[in-house]
Amino acid sequence: MSKTINAFEMAQKQFDHVAELLNLDPEVAEVLRWPAREFSFRIPVRMDDGTLRVFQGYRVQHNDARGPNKGGIRFHPSETMDTVRALGTWMTWKCAVADIPLGGGKGGIIVDPATLSTAEKERLTRGWVQNMWRNIGPRQDVPAPDVGTTPQMMGWMMDEYSKLVGQYTPSTFTGKPLGGGGSLGRTEATGFGVIYTVREAMKHLGMDPKTSTAALQGFGNVSQYAAVGFVEILGGKVECVSCWDRNDRTSYTYSHPDGCDPRFLLTIVDQYGMIDKEKAEAAGYIREDGDAWISKDVDVLIPAALEGQVNGESIQKISDRVKIIAEGANGPTTPEADEVIKAKGIFNIPDFLCNAGGVTVSYFEGVQNDMNFYWSKEEVLEKLDQKMTTAFKAVLDMAESKNVYMRDAAYMVAIGRVVKAMELRGWV
Ligand code: GLU
Repeated sequence: MSKTINAFEMAQKQFDHVAELLNLDPEVAEVLRWPAREFSFRIPVRMDDGTLRVFQGYRVQHNDARGPNKGGIRFHPSETMDTVRALGTWMTWKCAVADIPLGGGKGGIIVDPATLSTAEKERLTRGWVQNMWRNIGPRQDVPAPDVGTTPQMMGWMMDEYSKLVGQYTPSTFTGKPLGGGGSLGRTEATGFGVIYTVREAMKHLGMDPKTSTAALQGFGNVSQYAAVGFVEILGGKVECVSCWDRNDRTSYTYSHPDGCDPRFLLTIVDQYGMIDKEKAEAAGYIREDGDAWISKDVDVLIPAALEGQVNGESIQKISDRVKIIAEGANGPTTPEADEVIKAKGIFNIPDFLCNAGGVTVSYFEGVQNDMNFYWSKEEVLEKLDQKMTTAFKAVLDMAESKNVYMRDAAYMVAIGRVVKAMELRGWV
């Protein structure tokens, strides 16, 4: 993310703009502009070499009017309180737009997880829970994975929490591994959810998915399954994917003359989304610089990495062919870039609608944990498709009836639902 962009300022700016459009009572707006609760804590961890290192941890609980706070924990070297605030705020809107009975939250630790051993990661994740366990739980706040965190880490966290409270409590964390309380379909959920919204957008725009092409930024969990879904669900072609290469400290864009084969790429990517460049090269993949993805001559752009990537500068490079920007990442587009997207008439599927598939299946995971009965993958994905399609239609209807940009429409739907819950509970 560029130095000049602060994600929380961006989240507040988006909110303020829609609060004005909605004529929202300024007192009510004041409740929603800031998270309700914020935790900042230090986690001492004994490293494998015997030294003690102290890590900075966070949890932000933005709003729980519609249900317990919900949202991932991010492990990233440039994590800040403001990014966690922004991400926690977006989670409130995401759960509301997906119409699942949960609020918004987010957590993080300032760390590059790829620099830790497995045992160090386990101690660090358990340390996060030792700080937070009194303030999380199935009826309070339910964390999940995000950038840099994995199902295995959720398994450790759930175990630590269960030990501390003295009873097996799987629904305190979602995104757990299969066989350890996880749900079938959770791995695919965010990426496939992105594709269900792209499918609906294509129907709306009269596009043929089978002749469509896409360029994706990132190759972590979201991008991986968005790529698989673009090929296998829509029948389209993935022109390129990009990824951060931590060995070279730079990012690359990978394309293939016949189109990318996402299933093959899944076999040569590590748990942090880094593609093995030698193996990619041996399979005929062409490597360009990391920004190349955004200038590709494609129908659909899917930014699925970090916030602020589609900004005033990078948006200038996009091809006239682009018809849809599907935001797999949280906060990938800056308000400045939004103006260009509007002016060019590109159809935007805003982040907290587009990537709501992950939290939706997290919700299904919690439901399955609580009833102690598990659904098949087909059942999970069918329920996910229904939720995503309904959410997309609600936002599109709002955009058309109020004649507003899709992001503003998504905010209108979400804010309306959260404000209604606050009113019904007598908070405002
Ligand atoms: N971290 C994901 C997101 O940003 C998933 C959150 C969850 O499953 O709670 O939506």
